[in-house]
Amino acid sequence: MAKILKGKEVADALNAACIADIQSLLQCAIRPTLALIRLGNNPDDLAYESSIIKKAQSLGIQILGCDMDQNADQHELESHIRGFNQDPYVHGIMLFRPLPKHMDEQAVLNLIAPEKDVDGVTDISMGMVYAGNNQGFGPCTAESAMAILKHYQIPIEGKRAVVLGRSLVIGKPVAMMLLGRNATVTICHSKTKNLAGECKQGDILIAAVGKAGMVDASFVHEGQTVIDVGINVNEDGTMGGDVDYIGVEPVVSAITPVPGGVGTVTTAILMEHVIRSAKRQAQGNK
Ligand code: NAP
Repeated sequence: MAKILKGKEVADALNAACIADIQSLLQCAIRPTLALIRLGNNPDDLAYESSIIKKAQSLGIQILGCDMDQNADQHELESHIRGFNQDPYVHGIMLFRPLPKHMDEQAVLNLIAPEKDVDGVTDISMGMVYAGNNQGFGPCTAESAMAILKHYQIPIEGKRAVVLGRSLVIGKPVAMMLLGRNATVTICHSKTKNLAGECKQGDILIAAVGKAGMVDASFVHEGQTVIDVGINVNEDGTMGGDVDYIGVEPVVSAITPVPGGVGTVTTAILMEHVIRSAKRQAQGNK
């Protein structure tokens, strides 16, 4: 029977560390503040925003909301980002994505000041993940997968890690983070031959493919740790991952559930980034 790597335990530990940091910042008259920019009223964005606000309030992080019209002009959005970039009381900026199609999304994202890019979306942040210099912020979901491995003390150094998926949000950055921890990393994608055989090679398998239940028992072996990043809505309306949990869990040694795994940690990582940004500012002010 596999060990179930529950996200809540990881998020609780991250949040507890944040509370102590926030107390120290408040003593220096710095209140960690996150600006959230949302265009339109997409239900997924609203749900994510509400979970961020709830978590921020529980920790004492201030949220500045910026709700814009779905059809807003790109210049208007850019001017809000520039304003938050220049505001010394704002430590993090996050935009709900995807942006409406009339916008040049990457150009807009790259306007965010790298030191406030707490969601790790700018090219500069990505470059820092690749450099492995710990200067920037990685994408929160990729960092959540790594935080779960760290919390449950899953050995990484010298191990084989297979990442299924090569998106800029998850697959590529998590592969770089694993490499930074001295794993031997294989990245698989839609053109990979013998996908199941490749995935089976890993001591750690990160599934970030966006295909419900695609990773079945033929992709895994005994002793493997499986991190399921996928979030998919099943035909019956329930939420499931990229891993066929029922088939895989009895085979492997550790696995994240969906829901209750990686997704549960993402908001805690975002909060940790805002606090780290505020701490850097405090250190810069000394
Ligand atoms: P994405 O941009 O669509 O990338 C999917 C990746 O999977 C691509 O690299 C693609 O390969 C690969 N792929 C697709 N079909 C494949 C197949 N049949 N065989 C092998 N590889 C295949 O998705 P994403 O943004 O990385 O998201 C991945 C999953 O994570 C989704 O379920 C998403 O909902 C979930 N997610 C979770 C969180 C969280 O907080 N837990 C956050 C964000 C996203 P190619 O590059 O060759 O096309």
